[in-house]
Amino acid sequence: MNRPPDTTTAVRNVVIIGTGVAGLSAAVYTARADLEPLVFEGPEPGGQLTLTTEIENYLGFPEGIGGMELIQNGKEQATAFGAEFTRGTVEDAMLEKRPFEFELSDGSILRTHSLIVASGASARWVGAEGEDELMGYGLSTCATCDGAFHRGDDVLVIGGGDSAMEEALFLAKFADNVTVVHRRDELRASEIMVDRARDHEDIEFRWNTELEAIHGSQEDGIAGATLVSHSNGYPKEKVATGGDVDRETVNVGGVFYAIGHTPNTTFLRDTPVELDDNGYVWTANTDAWATTATAVDGVFAAGDVMDPHYQQAVTAAGMGSMAALDVEDWLESGAPASVEVPDSSVAKAND
Ligand SMILES: Cc1cc2nc3c(=O)[nH]c(=O)nc-3n(C[C@H](O)[C@H](O)[C@H](O)COP(=O)(O)OP(=O)(O)OC[C@H]3O[C@@H](n4cnc5c(N)ncnc54)[C@H](O)[C@@H]3O)c2cc1C
Repeated sequence: MNRPPDTTTAVRNVVIIGTGVAGLSAAVYTARADLEPLVFEGPEPGGQLTLTTEIENYLGFPEGIGGMELIQNGKEQATAFGAEFTRGTVEDAMLEKRPFEFELSDGSILRTHSLIVASGASARWVGAEGEDELMGYGLSTCATCDGAFHRGDDVLVIGGGDSAMEEALFLAKFADNVTVVHRRDELRASEIMVDRARDHEDIEFRWNTELEAIHGSQEDGIAGATLVSHSNGYPKEKVATGGDVDRETVNVGGVFYAIGHTPNTTFLRDTPVELDDNGYVWTANTDAWATTATAVDGVFAAGDVMDPHYQQAVTAAGMGSMAALDVEDWLESGAPASVEVPDSSVAKAND
């Protein structure tokens, strides 16, 4: 159901930004509680899982499940309970006002009493030839997710920070050989992580080297990759300015990007929602209980947008359900008096 939202008069009980697993899980819970959520699909309907072919570590699917299929199932489930989906992208949020107001990319304004931010984090891509076609077909941004598909392969890890070292160490459990490709001759990673990676017999390093192209097809996966090197580092810059570089094609069965994620929080930058130094939404942990509450009463966050650490489908889905339950509690107990809360919204998911 993709119809434009009523932006004229209606004030929604809850708006959910994002249709990755976190947003969909929040949509199922809030719809089931009769809160009639409006869910924005944004620039990447279905989120990051639509970039992968097979998911083997999501609970309940012993044979694995396709990323698209999991997302489609979640959307159908939320729609069946009454969630409304729309293609809109949120450009700006005015969260000092009650009800909250949003400006969408088509310029329309929407109002809501409560908000769940589930806008995810986008893995940074290198810009290598072939990456658009091969992402999810041997090229990945998540070793925990896709490492087990590369038993016995030689693989590349692109990056030089702690996450690149973590990915390399994880991949070394499956792959025959892991080569860390870094564009300089020293790493940004912490000493302890560097030592662990350097001491591992199946991990090697290619210094002053960058990935130029990935070869293969969606049918057969990755067949190899072209690397460029220059003794002073940053070889792609040298290529761009017509300089000489060494170029080599290597036989690898997998490539993993580990150059970080960018949380999708631009629309929150000028709001009182607190972000950490990297732009992730800060959520409160009160006493012993984790919550999805942000610095703004009535605004909650779930999934990769507030979790730089785990970034897994199952954790994002879990946090989506937490945010939905937190919204229900908030609407029931702390919302402005003008909010009409359906009786059933106090019912919890285990009813
Ligand atoms: C190639 C790949 C393979 C992976 N494989 C696995 C795996 O096998 N197992 C696993 O557990 N995890 C895997 N992951 C990680 C998993 O996909 C993420 O942890 C999960 O998708 C996070 O879900 P999310 O809902 O928080 O955010 P996302 O999936 O990032 O979804 C974000 C949503 O927010 C929307 N949005 C963003 N900005 C706006 C805006 N301004 N307005 C409106 N909407 C907006 C986007 O359009 C999107 O719908 C993989 C990731 C990748 C990239």
